[in-house]
Amino acid sequence: MVELTGGLRADAKTRPDGALDVVSLVVPFYNEADGVETFFREVTSVLERIPGIDYEIVCVNDGSTDATLEQLLAVCAENARVRVVDLSRNFGKEAALTAGIDEAAGAAVIPFDADLQDPPEAIARLIERWREGFDVVLAKRAERSTDTYMKRGTAALFYRVHNAISETVIPENAGDFRLMSRQVVDALKLLPENRRFMKGLFSWVGFRTAQIEYERQPRAAGETKFSAWKLWNFALEGLTSFGTWPLRVWTYIGGGTALFAIVYAIYLALRTVIRGVDVPGYASIITAVLFLGGTQLIGIGVIGEYIGRIYMESKRRPVYIVRQVYRRDAA
Ligand code: UDP
Ligand code: MG
Repeated sequence: MVELTGGLRADAKTRPDGALDVVSLVVPFYNEADGVETFFREVTSVLERIPGIDYEIVCVNDGSTDATLEQLLAVCAENARVRVVDLSRNFGKEAALTAGIDEAAGAAVIPFDADLQDPPEAIARLIERWREGFDVVLAKRAERSTDTYMKRGTAALFYRVHNAISETVIPENAGDFRLMSRQVVDALKLLPENRRFMKGLFSWVGFRTAQIEYERQPRAAGETKFSAWKLWNFALEGLTSFGTWPLRVWTYIGGGTALFAIVYAIYLALRTVIRGVDVPGYASIITAVLFLGGTQLIGIGVIGEYIGRIYMESKRRPVYIVRQVYRRDAA
């Protein structure tokens, strides 16, 4: 047990009421009907075997258009530890996770993918480190060979760029799979933004963090929900959520260009004095015009991106809408 200021953590054996700590698994489901059965078989068998904890599984149906909800409700009717939050439409994984985390009641919360790409066995190791006194236990992908070459390359580039320009560093190759203590979850809930880049928010709240490594598995069933275009937008979301460097860089580009223009103007003036008027110059003019026009448009685009974000945030819309929450003891 790590020494903690402000008193000792109550672990499974020392809780005054003798009850077990509840660990909440938060699982977003979007069109995962083919995998539901395998998912619960694998996950519950692992969770049942972890000593000293009780568990709950908070399933979020993110507006699936297949039989996912029916399947989840069937499991929920059998197992009182399973709850289903049915969202009113597809809000995307970040919103679905937020909904699940808000619903989770456990002393520790673990976001988990429905496709079993995160191996359930790793949960026991997360809980072990949590019991040692850590508030956050990151699960890092030691091995991403199940991702395509393209995905690994672009992911590596994203982490590098993000961490170079953002104020919040996100750990490389850590997905949403991690354990967070109740205190961390409560801190997370204080963050009011409604465009939620979860990986960034998880890092932003901080706390004592430990790591474990695991091997990312291939999907158990179904297909990835993230196309290249969706990933690109997700990356932009991440880059613009945690810093204003893309806005600030235009000041430097503008400054550099102006400096260059002054030097070039002096050179031209001197050349004119020495060599007389020299009319040709079409190529250099058109190059300068096109280059500056292009950079200005990019700059406007970046400003537009941020204004768009301000606009969306200013509406103060909720992150998700719940249609209904199902649990066994409720009718
Ligand atoms: N997901 C979701 N809403 C979406 C897209 C995905 O809830 O709009 C869920 C999906 O069901 C899965 C998890 O998010 O449980 C991860 O999605 P996926 O496996 O497609 O992503 P990948 O592993 O390919 O990054
Ligand atoms: Mg997946």
